[in-house]
Amino acid sequence: GSDVGKNASYLTDPAELIKSVETFIFDCDGVIWKGDTLIDGVPKTLELLRSLGKRLVFVTNNSTKSRKQYGKKFETLGLTISEEEIFASSFAAAAYLKSIQFPLEKKVYVIGEVGIQKELEQAGISYLGGPEDGDKKIDLKPGQLMEHDHSVGAVVVGFDRYINYYKIQYATLCLRENPGCLFIATNCDAVTHLTDAQEWAGGGSMVGAVKGSTKKEPLVVGKPSTFMMDYLSKKFQIEKSQICMVGDRLDTDILFGQNGGCKTLLVLSGVTTLETLQSPENTIQPHFWAHQLSDLLSAQKL
Ligand code: PLP
Ligand code: CA
Repeated sequence: GSDVGKNASYLTDPAELIKSVETFIFDCDGVIWKGDTLIDGVPKTLELLRSLGKRLVFVTNNSTKSRKQYGKKFETLGLTISEEEIFASSFAAAAYLKSIQFPLEKKVYVIGEVGIQKELEQAGISYLGGPEDGDKKIDLKPGQLMEHDHSVGAVVVGFDRYINYYKIQYATLCLRENPGCLFIATNCDAVTHLTDAQEWAGGGSMVGAVKGSTKKEPLVVGKPSTFMMDYLSKKFQIEKSQICMVGDRLDTDILFGQNGGCKTLLVLSGVTTLETLQSPENTIQPHFWAHQLSDLLSAQKL
C-alpha cells in the first residue's frame, strides 16, 4: 500500500484503528503469550474487541502443536477460543494439501513434530516419519541401498527437535526420486524463542537442510507467505483491507500483513525492540507500534 516505506508511528488512537477494521489476526508467541505465560492484559483486550463485534483469528508459525492442542493451550491460559479461530502452520500444511486435492493413495513424509502428524490425520492424509524416525540410524552393508516409499507424494518440513541424518536422507530420496514429489515448509523462521534466555535455531534450519541436499525451493505455508492470509480471507469472506495483523516480529508477522495488504500493528512484547524497529537497517515498517496488545484498551476511554 501507499503507507509501505513510511516509518511506523506509535498507536496514539487505538479507537480509530479498531473502527477501521473488521478482523484482527493475532500472532501468538510474543503477542498472546510468551512460552507458557499469558501476556498481561490480553484477556481484557480480546474481550473488548469481541464486544465491539470484531472477528478474532490466531495465526502461529509454530508447527509443533495441532489446532486442537492449541485449543487446550488457550483454555489452560483461561482464554475461550474456538479451534476454528486457530491457524497454526501445522494446520496450514494439511490445509494446503487438501486445497490441491492431494491424492489419498499418496503419503506425506514428515520432518517435524506431532502437530503436523495430527493435522494430517485430521485431514485424512497418510504419513510416515515424524518423531517416530527420531532414533533411526543408517546402517547399510557395502553396496546396499537405503529404501524409501515410492508412494510419498509430499515432504512436509517443520520445526523438529529430533531431526537426524536418516530423516534428511529419507526426505531427500523422496524429493529426488519420486516424480512430482512436493516440498512443503511450515515456516522458515531463522531463530525461535524456545526460552527467553537465548535464541534457538528455528524451523528454517530444518528446511535449510533439505533445501541444501535437493537444491529445491519449498512452498512455504506459514507467515510471511500469503497462503494462510488467502485461506482465511476466503474462509471467512473478509476483505484483506478490513484486517489488522498484530505481531511481534517484522520478517514474519508484519511482512505477512503487508503481503496481504492489511493494516499492521507491531507490539514490543515479544522479540522486536523499538531500537530494531527504528534502526536504519530495518526495511519493514508496520503502520503502528504499541508496547503490548493491551495498549488497545485505552480505546475504551474514548
Ligand atoms: N516455531 C517454534 C518452534 C516456536 O517455538 C515459535 C515460538 O515459540 C515459533 C515458531 C513462532 O511462533 P509465533 O508465530 O506464534 O510467534
Ligand atoms: Ca511471534
